[in-house]
Amino acid sequence: MTDPRPTQLLEAVPDRLHIAGRWRPAAGGATLAVTDPATGDVLKNVADATPDDGLAALTAAADAAARWARTAPRERAEILRRAFDLLMERKEDVALLMTLEMGKPLDQSRGEVAYGGEFLRWFSEEAPRVTGRYGISPEGTGRMIVTRHPVGPCYLITPWNFPLAMATRKIAPALAAGCTVVVKPAEATPLTTLYLARILAEAGLPAGVVNVVTTSSPGPVSEAIIADPRLRKLSFTGSTPVGRTLLKQAAGGILRTSMELGGNAPFVVFDDADLDQAVEGALAAKFRNIGQACTAANRFLVHRSVAEEFTERVTKRVAEFRMGPGTQEGVTIGPLIDDAAVTKSATLVRDAVDRGAHLRLGGEPVAGPGSYYPATVLSDVPPSSELLREEIFGPVLAVVPFDDEDDAVRLANATEYGLVSYVWTQDLARGQRMIERLATGMMGLNMGVVSNAAAPFGGWKASGLGREGGAEGIAEYLETKYTLTPDP
Ligand code: NAD
Repeated sequence: MTDPRPTQLLEAVPDRLHIAGRWRPAAGGATLAVTDPATGDVLKNVADATPDDGLAALTAAADAAARWARTAPRERAEILRRAFDLLMERKEDVALLMTLEMGKPLDQSRGEVAYGGEFLRWFSEEAPRVTGRYGISPEGTGRMIVTRHPVGPCYLITPWNFPLAMATRKIAPALAAGCTVVVKPAEATPLTTLYLARILAEAGLPAGVVNVVTTSSPGPVSEAIIADPRLRKLSFTGSTPVGRTLLKQAAGGILRTSMELGGNAPFVVFDDADLDQAVEGALAAKFRNIGQACTAANRFLVHRSVAEEFTERVTKRVAEFRMGPGTQEGVTIGPLIDDAAVTKSATLVRDAVDRGAHLRLGGEPVAGPGSYYPATVLSDVPPSSELLREEIFGPVLAVVPFDDEDDAVRLANATEYGLVSYVWTQDLARGQRMIERLATGMMGLNMGVVSNAAAPFGGWKASGLGREGGAEGIAEYLETKYTLTPDP
């Protein structure tokens, strides 16, 4: 008998736009098909918003802004906390929904519910802690008051690879700060955001505070919203090229912006590393989310004296992976998001092999249905290979040997990106030198996963602007005002 759970769950997901507290179809009634990457089957059709729908959502956010900004921080906190509790109660449903629309194995979806939910809880705790300061001017003649205020209506654009966490990482701090928002999820994975909007409404969020537009035309819809002077902030997670386009658009309105963009993470293994731990860290840093993470290790820089041993051990472990639909127990490698992603991994692997890399495992695309590419290991990857410059965004682990510490630093920093780096060494002084020398916004020092709601997530260089999570995460949604008054 087939499992009835997916059908019931999909029926419970709203299929319309969420604007001013109501669920409504797109103007003109167009819909957008959401498919299961494990089969290619259509899961559900949802409203396909036009630019006018986008502007209607912005109107709702603008209309709700003043009232939400005045709501007591404690009240905002309690709504976020209730949303967290509801999400935890429905953890299994949300995990299944993500696996259906995005493909990752169920266990990893459960992990994302835990991680993504944490932003609701963390920022529920931050909401009452937004403070300013009061001081006597240096001359002693005036009083300086510094206050913080919500920036106003925000537009939040999220990618498909972490459908829940990328939404909560933006929505929770915005709401905690007193901002209203329009959220636009990626066209491949809108269902999780629609379901989250339902949870937020059930948690008591007033109408218009969170509005959701799903669309197959992100360009025109976003351009209309960004050009509108009522918008005060744009927060984007996605690729660097789209981020560049959006920054240009945001310049018109001098918008506050947060940009969480692409990565090309180095994973550096020194000869003094604990290789058992480094191998386990490598599996997490590379194959979590089937390699489709901005934080995915892209280049494994391994000291020449341990490169072969590291590669052999990693290959042995990767050979144990099971590929299949994410809904199947025991599967570690689900499908990629679509066929274009399969072609990208296949092309990058072929390019590296043509240039002289050794294919140790995988490398052969798998026949459909579904968009599968096997876990692949390459060693002795030549510096000219495309996959060392580009985000692979697939389950391909590429090993490049290095000779000494300076060589490792030079190779690690030889990229326009600077999101995260991973360093494996048992030498404390060397670890500290790496903190100072690697040009990335985050580092895993003997750790393969770094994300945490309590920490500032974000990149240097072409990996972006601003931070999400931690105290820095809420600051992105606050404006500062300084007031001077005379000596009383
Ligand atoms: P993408 O840039 O194609 O799409 C991201 C979002 O932008 C989607 O919602 C999409 O609909 C929208 N979009 C696309 N074109 C647009 C346009 N012209 N105007 C406005 N919006 C537009 O990226 P993707 O393929 O969905 O996601 C993968 C990328 O996201 C990778 O580069 C990855 O590194 C990055 N990412 C970064 C982080 C981070 O925190 N730094 C986290 C996750 C993903």
